[in-house]
Amino acid sequence: MSTVVNPATEETLAEIESAGVEETDAAVARAKAAFPAWRAVSPTDRGRLLRRLATLVEEHHEELSRIESRNVGKPIGGARGEVGMVAHVFHFYAGAVDKHHGETIPVAGGVDLTFREPLGVVGLITPWNFPLNIASWKLGPALACGNTVVLKPAELTPLSTMRLGELALEAGIPEGVVNIVVGKGSVVGQRLIEHPDVAKIGFTGSTEVGQQVMRGAAGTIKRVTLELGGKSANVIFADADLEKAAAAAPYAVFDNAGQDCCARSRVLIERSAYDKFAELFVAATRKLKVGDPEDESSEMGPLISAAHRETVASFVNGEPLFRGDAPAGKGFWYPATIVEATTDDRVAREEVFGPVAALIPFEDEADAVRIANASQYGLSGSIWTRDGARAFRVARAIDTGVLSINSNSSVRPSTPFGGFKQSGFGRELGMHALAGYSEVKNVYYATEG
Ligand code: NDP
Repeated sequence: MSTVVNPATEETLAEIESAGVEETDAAVARAKAAFPAWRAVSPTDRGRLLRRLATLVEEHHEELSRIESRNVGKPIGGARGEVGMVAHVFHFYAGAVDKHHGETIPVAGGVDLTFREPLGVVGLITPWNFPLNIASWKLGPALACGNTVVLKPAELTPLSTMRLGELALEAGIPEGVVNIVVGKGSVVGQRLIEHPDVAKIGFTGSTEVGQQVMRGAAGTIKRVTLELGGKSANVIFADADLEKAAAAAPYAVFDNAGQDCCARSRVLIERSAYDKFAELFVAATRKLKVGDPEDESSEMGPLISAAHRETVASFVNGEPLFRGDAPAGKGFWYPATIVEATTDDRVAREEVFGPVAALIPFEDEADAVRIANASQYGLSGSIWTRDGARAFRVARAIDTGVLSINSNSSVRPSTPFGGFKQSGFGRELGMHALAGYSEVKNVYYATEG
């Protein structure tokens, strides 16, 4: 039995029977049985079903947002934005079904064609920080390509995904196509990774578990897509609009209480602008409203658990440059915190996954690129400058999968998302994600008599 808790109040939201290996095997068997009929559904009808699911998410927008806000401790405004994105993702993949074309390739003596075939049963393992969003990023392309799915949400935050499973049925997606299994990663997740009838694992979570996914998948040569940790840099050049960059910077690292693989938790500042930017950044962070996630004006909620709060706290030694306010009493609260660091400090190297920003000065463009790349991770990042040529030079030089210039916003349903280096591989979102949920089949047809 697992107890699902509201991290803002520590109240129990639900008690859920944890699935074991037997239930996981049963879900894989259901998905396997449903596969032949689902892959045979015409592209137009598959698109129509995904669009109906998107519409149902829109119709249940407030309900899903409340569930997500209570279970993750997210400010309700942010939760509403995320649920809006879930609907958008399903709309996008509804439209993508009949645009995932094959090719014809010039060859001698005949015709050569490629087909995009579904993989079969795919296992999806999702984390607790953006439960519904990340579920949709995987479900959308998996279903669009004609796969059936066993989805394991994080045990801490299963509620919104369970509701989405009900909505998928209500949308008319046939029984057995989407199977939600709630249970421990070490049991349900592990079984999916090893199961011979699961063709692929789509995983988002820690780099450590990502390594286990890769190792486990080797036994059956499973395909894997891994979206793992990050330690992204927010690079501020002295010629940037410093006011605008500083006003935006707190949201790039403290959003979702820093529990975001894209968090720009290393703020690299050109030395000549360091003092001014640090002052503006602290002033902007001071205004961040931390409190009850269901209060419409809240901008930051608590961390996911007491254990995670301890991990986050272990990164802050000594007096920080700034420490904000956070509610006392019940809830896993941790204040927005800004520290000054060097590239060697643990806070500048490891993923904190909490509201802790590390300020690091740099000397010039080459130094900025060197520091930005001095990380095992390469997921996201931002570049702030008024020099357009430099913005693109630096964007090309930083080894990271997703970047924004004069903005911290780089995740959209229609554009590819994923990492370099130990942030993982494979791409989610956009048309690129379809490649991760299909195989290319090449067929030659001889035409000579
Ligand atoms: P995990 O990587 O442990 O969890 C992610 C998912 O993997 C959950 O569904 C979890 O299940 C599952 N899982 C755990 N162990 C296994 C396993 N052996 N086999 C298969 N699946 C497994 O992340 P944590 O929750 O422990 O968070 C730890 C750190 O990971 C964070 O502090 C952060 O640094 C990073 N992280 C990164 C995320 C990202 O978006 N890239 C998201 C979440 C975490 P369950 O929890 O139910 O046991």
